[in-house]
Amino acid sequence: MRNYDQVLETARKAFSLGKTRSVSFRKQQLKNLLRLFLENEKEILNALNADLRKCSFEGKLGECENLKSEVKHMLRNLDHYSAPETLPLNLLAFLDRGYIQREPFGVVLVIGTWNYPFNLSLQPLIGALAAGNCVILKPSEVAPRSAETMAKLLPKYLDAECYQVVLGGAEDTQQLLRHRFDYIFYTGSSSVGRIISTAAAVNLTPVTLELGGKSPCFIDDDADCRLAAKRILWGKVMNLGMTCIAPDYVLCSKQVETEFVKVAKEVLEEWYGPNLQKSGDLPRFPNQKQLMRLTKMLEATKGRVVVGGESNPEGLWLDPTIVVDVDGRDSLMEPQNEIFGPILPIVNVGCLEEAIQFINARPKPLALYIFARSNSKCERMLEQTSSGGACVNDVIWHNLWPGLPFGGVGDSGQGSYHGKSSFDTFSHKKSVLVRGFGYFSEKLGEARYPPYNDSSLRF
Ligand code: NAD
Repeated sequence: MRNYDQVLETARKAFSLGKTRSVSFRKQQLKNLLRLFLENEKEILNALNADLRKCSFEGKLGECENLKSEVKHMLRNLDHYSAPETLPLNLLAFLDRGYIQREPFGVVLVIGTWNYPFNLSLQPLIGALAAGNCVILKPSEVAPRSAETMAKLLPKYLDAECYQVVLGGAEDTQQLLRHRFDYIFYTGSSSVGRIISTAAAVNLTPVTLELGGKSPCFIDDDADCRLAAKRILWGKVMNLGMTCIAPDYVLCSKQVETEFVKVAKEVLEEWYGPNLQKSGDLPRFPNQKQLMRLTKMLEATKGRVVVGGESNPEGLWLDPTIVVDVDGRDSLMEPQNEIFGPILPIVNVGCLEEAIQFINARPKPLALYIFARSNSKCERMLEQTSSGGACVNDVIWHNLWPGLPFGGVGDSGQGSYHGKSSFDTFSHKKSVLVRGFGYFSEKLGEARYPPYNDSSLRF
């Protein structure tokens, strides 16, 4: 295990010397980062393939393109985001100037996870860098080739004192957490999120926690069931289900379920051929631990497998699997059992209200999906439930939509990022009031001086 004193000291010194303060320095770093993505796409895609057997389409969609567009967004908007934000003042202060000055926190620790290893490490780094912070990035050890690639490439393109990558596992992260950071940004499980939050509290360090949870999908009887099934399956099978906002389970009537299962069988064969394992478009688990976790879940369920169910331990593989006859008490539905893999349980509900009750009886999810033609039903679901984000008549798409902040609520996380929201997350919003020495300016505030007179307190 490394001693991180030197890493921290280097970053602190760079920050206190004001290296990252100027917007032009930050822009240059962002341009360098863009060059890194453009010049090394092949190496990035190879690393993703080595860690997760991710195909190049998913690597580009979920990681490279996302990252490039985030950098470009910051480059386009950095002047505007970093400019003081003037606010209207009241009558008493009409001669003054009030504004919000966004300032960097200082040295930020970004702890990444492995399912989208580049995106979930570098997307927060882009926000922290754009806001003028120094960054220490700890990518996940579960995707080692990706982590090593970041450690190798970043110092070639970015200022090596301001932005550093440290490699290691849980113990290294805990060692890092013994140091004082000015901000901590963590992506991963809710259980580790609690460890991070507790460590941060010792130094009163602010944190963003991007966690997981069981994201429900409600399909109303009047929805276009074929399209709903296609979209849900796409979101469930992409990255072999290892996506934090993948649909975790479906809530629908028995009639919708029958149609859903029929469509699923057709669509999976249409997309991946008769032997899904032979398809080059589907990734693999990163290790046996993840596969075992899922096969154990399948062994424990009282539900009935109607699609898939076969696994191959040597191939780190589990078929996309649909389980029916699952109720709220089933092990697949336990709140701590986020599926995070290609198993999709279907729970039958009689109506929208029952679905709302079901969702509200569980921890707040990271995403919520509603498939219905009726606007009023969609609005009811959105008003009466709470989730990090939501998408109507599709899944995952809200995360790809530029400009929408991304984050959880309650057990699924705290804080948000992406675009402007990232810049704000990594900036302290300093309120500034500027007053003058003029006669009228003083006259307007004169009532504050003793001897006091209560009647002058009417503003
Ligand atoms: P994890 O929480 O085990 O690991 C993530 C990071 O935490 C790694 O860098 C790891 O080194 C570190 N870590 C692990 N154990 C630690 C410990 N005891 N102390 C200190 N640091 C520790 O990751 P995971 O659970 O395998 O990731 C999957 C979870 O992450 C799922 O719940 C998923 O939904 C969630 N996730 C959330 C998002 C999001 O954006 N909200 C994105 C991806 C994954």
